[in-house]
Amino acid sequence: MALIVQKYGGTSVGSIERIQNVANRVIDTYNQGKDVVVVVSAMGKSTDHLIQMANDISDNPSKRELDMLVSTGEQVSMSLLAMALQQKGYQSVSLTGWQAGIKTEAAHGNARILDINNKRINGHLAEGNIVIVAGFQGLTDEEEIATLGRGGSDTTAVALAASLKAEKCEIYTDVTGVYTTDPRVVGGARKLESISYDEMLEMANLGAGVLHPRSVEFAKNYNVKLEVRSSIEKETGTMIEEEVSMEGNLTVRGIAFESNVTKVTVHGLQDDINTLAKLFTILSDQKINVDIIIQNTNGKEATDISFSLDSEVLNQALEVLSEYQPELNYDHITYEGDLAKVSIVGSGMISNPGVAAKMFNVLSSNGIKIKMVSTSEIKVSTIVSSTTMISAVECLHEAFELEERKTVEV
Ligand code: ASP
Ligand code: MG
Repeated sequence: MALIVQKYGGTSVGSIERIQNVANRVIDTYNQGKDVVVVVSAMGKSTDHLIQMANDISDNPSKRELDMLVSTGEQVSMSLLAMALQQKGYQSVSLTGWQAGIKTEAAHGNARILDINNKRINGHLAEGNIVIVAGFQGLTDEEEIATLGRGGSDTTAVALAASLKAEKCEIYTDVTGVYTTDPRVVGGARKLESISYDEMLEMANLGAGVLHPRSVEFAKNYNVKLEVRSSIEKETGTMIEEEVSMEGNLTVRGIAFESNVTKVTVHGLQDDINTLAKLFTILSDQKINVDIIIQNTNGKEATDISFSLDSEVLNQALEVLSEYQPELNYDHITYEGDLAKVSIVGSGMISNPGVAAKMFNVLSSNGIKIKMVSTSEIKVSTIVSSTTMISAVECLHEAFELEERKTVEV
């Protein structure tokens, strides 16, 4: 029988009433003759509350115990949903990640799914059950509970869809789909009918918080048909799939943005063959993620290297760089905070030269100074001052004609 995996996010299961609404939606699909596997997040903000309690009781809660704690959130919503379905006369069983056969690597708080043994799920489905699975968790080889990182229930759903060969994976959330940009910020933001895996991956990694980036990676690798849609509105959502044609003559599909970026510059580094390797190995050994990197050589012996990072890890970066000053032998370090990253994304860029140039022109003619740039085949990212972030997004949204398509009356 055809199988659908549905995932409901925290807001969608945020109250008893909402859980009943979810039960009705699940039943609709079940009554269409489908097998249904449902993945749930923890109710509302309950994961945040659990983490808060851990931080109230300990300066540095152990990652193992933190996983023991936060994995309980999903157990609350999964059992309540199973009860709601049973109350409505449907057979249902809820399973924790480990009961569902989800094996993960041994990385507490940020584990990847390694394998799924779907024997038990298939057994319950064969008996006519609607199977509910706790999102965001699995079991390591050492039989420890590990979680997948914030927002990881999306990844549970896509991984299950791949493993169970589902015809589709539906991600139900509090927005009606994936938009050209954040509709809370830009009034004319438009819901996309579809977007390619690669574009969605860029958007997700660039801070458009609709999907957990790893879930998109998974969907791409296993060719899972993914739809993001609302758990309240009935309208169809946004399809995420392999090949998506560009609408009209557009080259850009969407605009992503995030604040909290800091640019760090290391001045006067010796321009040796291994300087860059040394510098970035030191940072990566501390798990400090750097984003855009710029090297300024001027033909002399010393070089300046700038990179951007999440402002939250700035102090950690400064500490480790100062610790390694003797080894790196640089002159001094400066940094600039309160920056933001604004990116345009679209597969149409590959075959259209001049998209980056247009972006820079639009920003400069709106008085927005670009501090750093990076590009890939399907995106251009710029670092600008936080205070100009919103106006940058707005003018790019307009210039690339992403706004609401109005029907023109003739
Ligand atoms: N409950 C977890 C979180 O809040 C996982 C998820 O919702 O996807 O991050
Ligand atoms: Mg989410």
